[in-house]
Amino acid sequence: MEVKSRSTNSSSPTNVPCAGCKLLRRRCSKDCIFVPYFSSAEPEKFAAVHRIFGASNVCKMLHDIPLNHRGDAVNSLVYEANARLRDPVYGCVASIASLQHQVSQLQTELAMALAETITLRAQISEALSASGSLKNRALETYCCCSSMPTLAQAYSQDILIEQQSQLP
Ligand SMILES: [Zn+2]
Repeated sequence: MEVKSRSTNSSSPTNVPCAGCKLLRRRCSKDCIFVPYFSSAEPEKFAAVHRIFGASNVCKMLHDIPLNHRGDAVNSLVYEANARLRDPVYGCVASIASLQHQVSQLQTELAMALAETITLRAQISEALSASGSLKNRALETYCCCSSMPTLAQAYSQDILIEQQSQLP
């Protein structure tokens, strides 16, 4: 048995048992379902999952999940276990509820910002149309004035009249 165990260990790249087998104090084989997901470098991941769900339940869950989804499943189990350890009452539901509250607040803020944008756009278009009519009025005034004598001409005529009136 000892020789077989050594040969199994020598075939594994790390040559050390997975975090699950280490915690459960059992021999880790190359077929151990925990090996790809619970490395001995992160023993706290398996400790949390084992404490909340139990190692045998985690083993059963992983067997029921297709191989390509097991990594994601382990990540969510670890997340849920850590949340449950932090908050024994609500677990990860506390985070979900808090995020849902934030989403609702942000949706309200977004709706208010959109309403403000619509109001500001309306004000800008009103201001632009008002300035457009002002420009038109200025243009009309300019056209009227251009047919009349220029200011300089008018000024020089005034001076002449004044000089004539001062003559004896
Ligand atoms: Zn193992």
